[in-house]
Amino acid sequence: MKRVYNFSAGPAVLPEPVLKKVQDELLNYRETGMSVMELSHRSAPFQNIIEEAQGLLRELLSIPDDYRVVFMQGGASLQFSMIPLNLLGEGQGADYIVTGSWSKKAVKEAEKVGDIRTLSLKEPFEIPVYTPEDFSPESSYVHITSNNTIEGTRFHKYPDTGRIPLIADMSSHILSEKIDVSSFGLIYAGAQKNLGPSGVTVAIIRDSLIGKAPDTCPTMMNYETYVKHDSLFNTPPTFSIYVLKLVLEWVKENGGVEGMQEHNERKAALLYNCIDESSLFHNPVPEKNRSLMNIPFSTGNDELDADFLKGAKAEGFEFLKGHRSVGGMRASLYNAMPLEGVKSLVDFMKKFESDRG
Ligand code: PMP
Repeated sequence: MKRVYNFSAGPAVLPEPVLKKVQDELLNYRETGMSVMELSHRSAPFQNIIEEAQGLLRELLSIPDDYRVVFMQGGASLQFSMIPLNLLGEGQGADYIVTGSWSKKAVKEAEKVGDIRTLSLKEPFEIPVYTPEDFSPESSYVHITSNNTIEGTRFHKYPDTGRIPLIADMSSHILSEKIDVSSFGLIYAGAQKNLGPSGVTVAIIRDSLIGKAPDTCPTMMNYETYVKHDSLFNTPPTFSIYVLKLVLEWVKENGGVEGMQEHNERKAALLYNCIDESSLFHNPVPEKNRSLMNIPFSTGNDELDADFLKGAKAEGFEFLKGHRSVGGMRASLYNAMPLEGVKSLVDFMKKFESDRG
């Protein structure tokens, strides 16, 4: 059976050695006589898995000691509600920088809880550099989507929010490039792009932001519940956490976050160069704001785009169709996408263009 090159925005490609390891260990996990899916979440082998996963994430991202790592469910979308429910007391508000569709969704949920001020872009793909003066001094936090999965943009410089905690939705680029965790109050990410399978959501939270939720906050929506119980208050998504742990081991074996960044910069440069040199394909994002992970492009002609997608699929390039709100194509080049996948895609694009004279 031939594996295809999977350019999906998520759930996305996983490293092949991880899938093989899952296969090897599926029926009998480390002499337990059962699969990880069948293990009690209170058992020693599972406790080891979750502790190792936490430890690896701390190591890979150099997470400072005054931060907690928790594993939750509900995807990044549940975080859109959890953040304001935990951090906005009566009459409090927050600033949200809106850089794309996912930021808008975060705003929509936060508005149900508190007084939200939005900062919008003047140009759709141009993310400015923000300084403390841009934010309301009474704001409880500033929220950003650090990589915009649909628009294919990212912050080239994170906002300086002064004393206000900065919160980032890093769903579509966590572990893809180096970050300084200490400049964020809270980082969150759904796993299904760079961390593992869907079903688990990771948050990295500064101690000072834990325990702030009002008494009315539901137990399962309160970060403190996850911190106090080491993410084992109730049954966590055990299998997803296990695969996530294997992905983190793979990242470590392959040069850590630095290794991933180098590999991602090479892959992205290959595809952006191909687009920029082409007279058929276009990408609208100014160079400094271009995402390393999600690269939208199109010919500007719906029929030609459809032809391209059909031909690409026949060659084993899957899920290249752009998001339904944007159209065209989008190649997601997460950590697990091999360089060969991008090289083959670029060869196919060049051939497609030259065949059309
Ligand atoms: N934020 C971003 C940046 C995303 O890319 C996505 C998913 N594509 C989400 C949030 C929503 O994630 P989930 O489906 O895990 O709720």
